[in-house]
Amino acid sequence: MAKSYDLIIVGAGMVGALSAILLAKSSLRIALVDKHDGEYRLSTPPAYDARVSAISSQSKALLEKASVWQGIAKDRIASYDNMVVWDGLGEGYIDFNAQATAMPELGHLVENAVLNQQLMVQVRRSKNIDLYLGDSLESHELSESGVRVELMSGHVLEAQTIIAADGAMSKLRSENAFDTVEWDYGHHAIVTTIEIAQSHENTAWQSFGEEGILAFLPLPSVDQKHFVSIVWSVPPKEAESLMVLDEKAFCRRLHYAMNKRFDVLGITQVRQAIPLRQRHAKQYVKAGLALIGDAAHTIHPLAGQGANLGFGDVKALVEVLEKAHRRGEYLGTSKVLRRYQRARMLDNIAMAAGMESFKRLFSTQQPFIVQLRNIGMKQFNKGESLKKKLVARAAGLSSFS
Ligand SMILES: Cc1cc2nc3c(=O)[nH]c(=O)nc-3n(C[C@H](O)[C@H](O)[C@H](O)COP(=O)(O)OP(=O)(O)OC[C@H]3O[C@@H](n4cnc5c(N)ncnc54)[C@H](O)[C@@H]3O)c2cc1C
Repeated sequence: MAKSYDLIIVGAGMVGALSAILLAKSSLRIALVDKHDGEYRLSTPPAYDARVSAISSQSKALLEKASVWQGIAKDRIASYDNMVVWDGLGEGYIDFNAQATAMPELGHLVENAVLNQQLMVQVRRSKNIDLYLGDSLESHELSESGVRVELMSGHVLEAQTIIAADGAMSKLRSENAFDTVEWDYGHHAIVTTIEIAQSHENTAWQSFGEEGILAFLPLPSVDQKHFVSIVWSVPPKEAESLMVLDEKAFCRRLHYAMNKRFDVLGITQVRQAIPLRQRHAKQYVKAGLALIGDAAHTIHPLAGQGANLGFGDVKALVEVLEKAHRRGEYLGTSKVLRRYQRARMLDNIAMAAGMESFKRLFSTQQPFIVQLRNIGMKQFNKGESLKKKLVARAAGLSSFS
């Protein structure tokens, strides 16, 4: 016999879990399905996770609304007040700081494992969410008047609509023939945690140079030891050779790639190399189905905006569905779901286009372009009002649309 819900959310990653918690607060009945077992998410991981996310003010506010942020141990959150971006091939640099932009901080860095764990705590506290972990969709039928899903475990679920939060390789997106615009960035991101000798000064450091795009993202210090999470975006062949370097050689390369600013003492996490791909679905919705988060779009991590865009999707979708629910509208109609698409698509495309131009501008080593780029950076750095606008945009406090 089928079990009946208002919504079925597929994917209990950051984006799917947060949408479930917020929608459940509007007394909607939710089935949350994830192919992973998820038990590991119930306790705070003892060691730093190699994957971290820069969380914007808008995302933080949403996580607070879901009572998730309050549960994160203070010693697992690092706020950053400054961001310094420079051109490794010249003298151009841009510095952003919270004081000049009248914000308490530019953002926070949180390990993905810690965030996922707190999301799962709140999911489990909600009486309106049934969790189907270690399970996925065997088959599904979509229509304007309702969806029906059969899970691998044999459970049959019915609801008004499915929300696909099943990540970059979304099966729901491909099985329902959503067209995408996508291309390889021709880069892999190497991520890990390292210990440095000097303080990171609560600053996110980012270098664009011959050695690729390298970010040092501040983590909380422990026993006066300083740690940063790195994201090092380089062509795949270069990534391959960096991945097999021994620890000492890898640390030396980091030291030079960061303009000798920090002495790198060691690696504290296994290195991971993640292929980077830009992808954007041409539509986010069909009758009975809405794509959110990485299922709808992925961008280069250079500005740390992927999850923040996903949380922006959550905010918009929750507003649309709550309002429709209050009015007694059926939640799975194209008419209702298109309101979410209208609210998000332009903003997401503008951010993706911005990241692409930035990446291309810094991919070239042609002397003429490098010279122009450096002049541009110096000029930009003097323009406080433009910097303020960019910071407000990155914080999610203003939009392009
Ligand atoms: C190197 C790197 C650094 C980044 N840094 C930042 C940053 O600083 N700030 C930021 O905002 N973003 C950052 N991002 C982007 C961010 O990590 C992603 O945008 C975010 O994790 C996407 O979350 P999601 O919930 O949409 O997808 P995912 O995290 O991929 O979650 C998808 C979930 O769906 C489940 N699933 C998949 N398929 C199925 C299925 N068939 N059935 C059931 N369940 C399924 C998976 O198990 C998973 O739990 C970074 C990305 C990279 C690669």
